[in-house]
Amino acid sequence: MRATLLGTGTSYPDPERVQSGILIEEGSHKILLDIGSGILQRMTQQKIDIKSIEEVFISHFHIDHCADFLPLCQSLWLSGYDKTLRVFAPPTIREWSRGVFDIAFKYLRDRILVKTTALSENHVVPLDDITVITSPTLHSNYDTRAFRVECDGKTLTYSSDTAPCRDIIELAKGTDILIHECNWLDGLHQEGFHTSPNELAKIAEEINPTKIILTHVSPEVVAAREKVIDIVGRRTNAEVLLGEDLMMLNL
Ligand SMILES: [Zn+2]
Ligand SMILES: [Zn+2]
Repeated sequence: MRATLLGTGTSYPDPERVQSGILIEEGSHKILLDIGSGILQRMTQQKIDIKSIEEVFISHFHIDHCADFLPLCQSLWLSGYDKTLRVFAPPTIREWSRGVFDIAFKYLRDRILVKTTALSENHVVPLDDITVITSPTLHSNYDTRAFRVECDGKTLTYSSDTAPCRDIIELAKGTDILIHECNWLDGLHQEGFHTSPNELAKIAEEINPTKIILTHVSPEVVAAREKVIDIVGRRTNAEVLLGEDLMMLNL
């Protein structure tokens, strides 16, 4: 299995980072975890045939995690995509897809086949060679999912957007690679939205994966990268890296 970080930024404009998205590949099977603004462009840069995407998982409906879904649909239609695109997301997907395909962009409705599945909090999605398991996260009042991806004895866990969350720690136990958000630096912040380096250090200690990749990093976190990596790695033997757009992780 291989994961490519397509986007590691936040909603703040950043010349080096687009919004959230991870491509998972196992052989010819391709899955997207989140599809924020810029992800379609990143796939094009990587010469990834978008018609090979079979499933899209959307962690939640903040714009930086789903904005490129519509451009993807339009591009797939124009590229002659003849499969059914399967989309998995929290239950808001029902209203969201009605708004998109029945109201805002009706013309797309008959041009691409989309099958949506509402993810329960702890959902298991078997996809041939890959299994995706979800947990809820703690992200204000937004119904959000973290994803654990298993394939051939290897595991990757992606937190999506979350404050420190017991459910994700349980989901990620035994994971090889933890891709966790680190949205802001330590300090005073709104409670229950995102994770800071000191908070992530405690999470890392409990999960103790082989590798921790920081994603959803705001410009202030990027500017303090060395200090941030040092803090996150203090309580674990895991290798800690700041995620970069187009970073590849082989499992
Ligand atoms: Zn969010
Ligand atoms: Zn976000």
